Amino acid sequence: MSTLKAVRGTRDLLPAETGLWNRIEATARSVFSRYGFGEIRTPVFEDTALFARGVGEETDIVSKEMYTWEDRARAQSEKTQSLTLRPENTAGVVRAYIEHKLGETGQLQKLYYIGPQFRRERPQRGRYRQFSQIGAEVIGPASSGSESPLRDAEVLEMLASLLDELGISGWVLKLNSVGSASDRPKYIETLRAALMPVVGQMCVDCQRRAETNPLRVLDCKVPEDQPIIDALPKIADSLDADSRAHFAAVCAALDAAGVPYERDHRLVRGLDYYTRTTFEFTHGGLGAQNALLGGGRYDGLSELIGGPKAPGIGFAMGEDRLVLTLQAQEAAKAVLLDTYIAPVGEVQNPAALSLARSLRRSGLSVELGDGAFRVKKSFEAADKVARTIVLFGEDEANSGILTVKDFSTGIQSKIARADLAAALLSSRNK
Ligand code: ATP
Ligand code: MG
Repeated sequence: MSTLKAVRGTRDLLPAETGLWNRIEATARSVFSRYGFGEIRTPVFEDTALFARGVGEETDIVSKEMYTWEDRARAQSEKTQSLTLRPENTAGVVRAYIEHKLGETGQLQKLYYIGPQFRRERPQRGRYRQFSQIGAEVIGPASSGSESPLRDAEVLEMLASLLDELGISGWVLKLNSVGSASDRPKYIETLRAALMPVVGQMCVDCQRRAETNPLRVLDCKVPEDQPIIDALPKIADSLDADSRAHFAAVCAALDAAGVPYERDHRLVRGLDYYTRTTFEFTHGGLGAQNALLGGGRYDGLSELIGGPKAPGIGFAMGEDRLVLTLQAQEAAKAVLLDTYIAPVGEVQNPAALSLARSLRRSGLSVELGDGAFRVKKSFEAADKVARTIVLFGEDEANSGILTVKDFSTGIQSKIARADLAAALLSSRNK
């Protein structure tokens, strides 16, 4: 019988790694709450039509990457329905915004999510079939200020602060404007016309894109195509006055806040719903999959999926790629427990559990050994998982004075049981 394994493109995260995942999520939650965001959790699968209409039929995601199935009816009253594992979360959040009439509050909605997404892609480093995104959306009726360029700048400033707080150094913010819903068709026509005489010399993908979705030509990575693409007209030249002013205001606010960015004329992003501001944060350490996160404004998305006008802006960070970046930076040193309690002799086991209980209740992280172990074995086990070891033998039980060794300094000291928690807590920050 063959052994069963995790499906291609999916992974188990074991305790050696989940510590870092949890730290990233805790930092994100803390930053989001300081900016007034609340958490939203939407279902992992949705009606296929949501992504077809929201993300766009012609995008790579919808045309080839989705996990879609016909869900059969279980009763005559039910219909078969086409369902899809969510490939991204913005469409689901906007669906929920419409379904729960969040716009009727008149308030700007600031929502964040953390969770798995699914795309049938070719698995490689930084690219998986189940991956996790941490994302946020700022959305509301125009009267709530949702169209203001200040919202764009604030989201970008928040991301810069979040990456800094996570300890990710060397990120680059790439920024562009893809214009309004009326600028884009104009640009697409200009692009189509400019591609006509040169597309024959380009890769087969570009030849197809020139027909179906000319904007996607700008994403092409084939080296031979690059000089041709660089010579194509820029979307900046097709923007109307409002879009130009909006983009200039975003840039001015970022300059004032001291957030560095680069203008990238080719950044059009892979989802059809973007309008005006688009952005990506990249990191050199990631190799080919260098995007840490991407996002942009989507002023028409709500209407695309049948809702009221609700301009918005959002982003999604690839959590897997944040983890890879931090691991590569060695910022993710193994986190050690505060102490390891080594009962000396099995008779001390119950009292040692009682000591562990009181230390854990003081907020310390504690591993409890076993009195059946020899002292040497306890030291070896403790050295792997904890900063310190506490010996708990007959003498210690009688006197209430414990022997504590700090592995980083090698110093062994005697500490009264009543003072132990405070001593371990204060040595934590040295
Ligand atoms: P890419 O150019 O890397 O394919 P994308 O444009 O498809 O990215 P988005 O749909 O904007 O990405 O998703 C936002 C972020 O989610 C990306 O910047 C990336 O960090 C992460 N991401 C996207 N697809 C995957 C995947 N298959 N595995 C891991 N992370 C992913
Ligand atoms: Mg992709």
